Amino acid sequence: MALRRLISLAVACALMMAVAAPAQARSAPKKPYCVTHKCIALTFDDGPADYAETLLKILKKYKAKATFFVIGNRVKKHPKITAHIARDGHEIGNHTWDHKYLTELSYEDIYREIRDTQRIIKKATKKSPVLFRAPGGLTDEDVETATAKFGLVQIPGTVATQDFIPDYRDVEFLTTRALDIAGRDEVVLMHETVKQTVQSLPAVLKELTKQGYHFVTVSKLLEGQKLIPGRIYPEEPLLSDD
Ligand SMILES: [Zn+2]
Repeated sequence: MALRRLISLAVACALMMAVAAPAQARSAPKKPYCVTHKCIALTFDDGPADYAETLLKILKKYKAKATFFVIGNRVKKHPKITAHIARDGHEIGNHTWDHKYLTELSYEDIYREIRDTQRIIKKATKKSPVLFRAPGGLTDEDVETATAKFGLVQIPGTVATQDFIPDYRDVEFLTTRALDIAGRDEVVLMHETVKQTVQSLPAVLKELTKQGYHFVTVSKLLEGQKLIPGRIYPEEPLLSDD
């Protein structure tokens, strides 16, 4: 009897283990989205401004998510547009209060630029940004220290259409340029304040969709990486902006 009970116990254990094994496999950590998908992160700076609502409509049509690096004083003027951007599932990043070059400011002023912008974005969207982009891509140790205090990482972008150059402000030119610089896991720097950039977007999104790209927020692109506040991501970025 005792032996039979022992055997049945062993069988039960084996059965339990057999059941447990696939359950464990199911709960194994999922690979980050952009490891298994061809991702690109489009970013739009200097808003919220005149073309933001048009831009949101275009992004929605192509089921594209993007990241908006907004300026604090413009968020103050346009809290509803800011909230709309967030509501549509896009990410909002801090781009300082009034777009001053931070390397020319004292630590206290840098801190204030970042703090006030965090506050106004939180007020408009009920969420604190985790991403920061320095105006002009100009950063230094003070900027690293100040952004770290707010748990922000720095995102200068890896490629740019350079739509801030007046001669580049042509829809066809900016379309070609965006398609030329697009690549897997790139963070593309553009400006929502440039009308021709917004106008070029339908053609850009259509073509990149055809090429199999998924348009994701910067946080989604960086998913799975250990991010250290104050540091620059993705590593080895291009440090040029308007
Ligand atoms: Zn800017």
